[in-house]
Amino acid sequence: MKKYHIETYGCEMNKAESAAMEATLREHGWERSPEEDAQLVLLNTCTVRTTAENRAWNRIHQLSARKKERGFVLAVVGCMAEQHKGAIQKKAPGVDYVLGTFQKQSFGLMLDIISKGQRIEVLEETPTYVFDASHHEPGAFRSFVPIMHGCNNFCSYCIVPYVRGREVSRNPADILHEIDQLEDLGVREITLLGQNVNSYRWEADGQVLNFPGLLRMIAGHLDNRHAIARGAPADPRQFGGRIGWIRFLTSHPKDLSSELVEAIVDNPIFCRHIHLPFQSGSNAVLAAMNRKYTREEYICLVEKLRKEMPELTLSTDILVGFPGETEEDLDETLDLMRRVRFSYAFMYHFNTREGTPAARMPNKTPDKVKKQRLARVIALQKEITASLMEERIGQTDEVLIEDISKRSSKEVLARTTRDEMVVFAASQKRIGHFARVRLLSVAGNTFRGEEV
Ligand code: SF4
Repeated sequence: MKKYHIETYGCEMNKAESAAMEATLREHGWERSPEEDAQLVLLNTCTVRTTAENRAWNRIHQLSARKKERGFVLAVVGCMAEQHKGAIQKKAPGVDYVLGTFQKQSFGLMLDIISKGQRIEVLEETPTYVFDASHHEPGAFRSFVPIMHGCNNFCSYCIVPYVRGREVSRNPADILHEIDQLEDLGVREITLLGQNVNSYRWEADGQVLNFPGLLRMIAGHLDNRHAIARGAPADPRQFGGRIGWIRFLTSHPKDLSSELVEAIVDNPIFCRHIHLPFQSGSNAVLAAMNRKYTREEYICLVEKLRKEMPELTLSTDILVGFPGETEEDLDETLDLMRRVRFSYAFMYHFNTREGTPAARMPNKTPDKVKKQRLARVIALQKEITASLMEERIGQTDEVLIEDISKRSSKEVLARTTRDEMVVFAASQKRIGHFARVRLLSVAGNTFRGEEV
């Protein structure tokens, strides 16, 4: 059996693309192995964040040098490969293939050629992004389903529109087909994935399907499917499990419409958690970031969401130390955090991404100041998370059991619909099942609970 090893750097989108590449590898007769046994080593890279890019560069150099010790094929794929193709080939001559995001259709061809011990010089590009057919990992009960790719927003600090291209939405028939396949394989929770899912748009026969429409279509489709399954004799090979939860990632605040809120409210299959990056609480910084909303509009949106769904939790991304950011701007960010009370946040300080408008902006914030500001943001978020968790003690919620607890094999780790982690006593046979749990206490960022 031919053996491959894959490493993934970067975001959820990259993880989903790695899962799809692994599905293709399996179809072509490859099996996963540790790096030292692999005939093919794949690095799926991301250039969106400096840290992920630096880690990928380190591995490229390390593996490129290792090829002097043993023979294997080294391929670099993903959006870093798209942006730095020439530089990778020049700086790391051991790399055999560099495949950008628009060369996916060449991936299978590359595998066949490698299997024959041959080499291909030119890998075709496709004019638009091609969605993979399957993102299922064997045994997984949570899965990503990409629904769109690329971004048209051009936030001034972000490289995504340049390396992943403009927005392309996936055919809804293909989305439903993949969801059905995943359900048949036992998946219980799916996350609809895209850089900006709220701007999903599919046009056919003079009709436009937007993101709220897609959500309603998926919810209705699953309702029908589950009704049919309930009426049919149970056949686990045909109906491995029920998708009970749907999440989506990532939402841009400017595109989160009232129509979308209604679609979520009307369909309890959508989890009561939304990741809604706000980046900065200062209108001056938001304008410089080209985010196309104000702090007032963001707060108003949060109020509307909470009015319609009081149980909803929100998480966010916060970027501090943007060029020109003042202490007053940072105070506005801290103020917005206190008002909204996010359950958790991904917090970063600004790093220059070459090729973006922000890279050319004056008034860069000194490193020391960026780090100090980030520390203040992290400290406040810790306080907010802790106080929100305290308020949850005594409440019950539905959870999906994900894993065995690290501390005891008699306990399991589960996630609530509101994206909180809970540990409670249960058999590991229950992994992949839903349960109802009372939250009893807090240990770090995890609840301890009991099944009810
Ligand atoms: S919305 Fe902005 S931050 Fe998000 S991917 Fe698009 S350009 Fe980047």
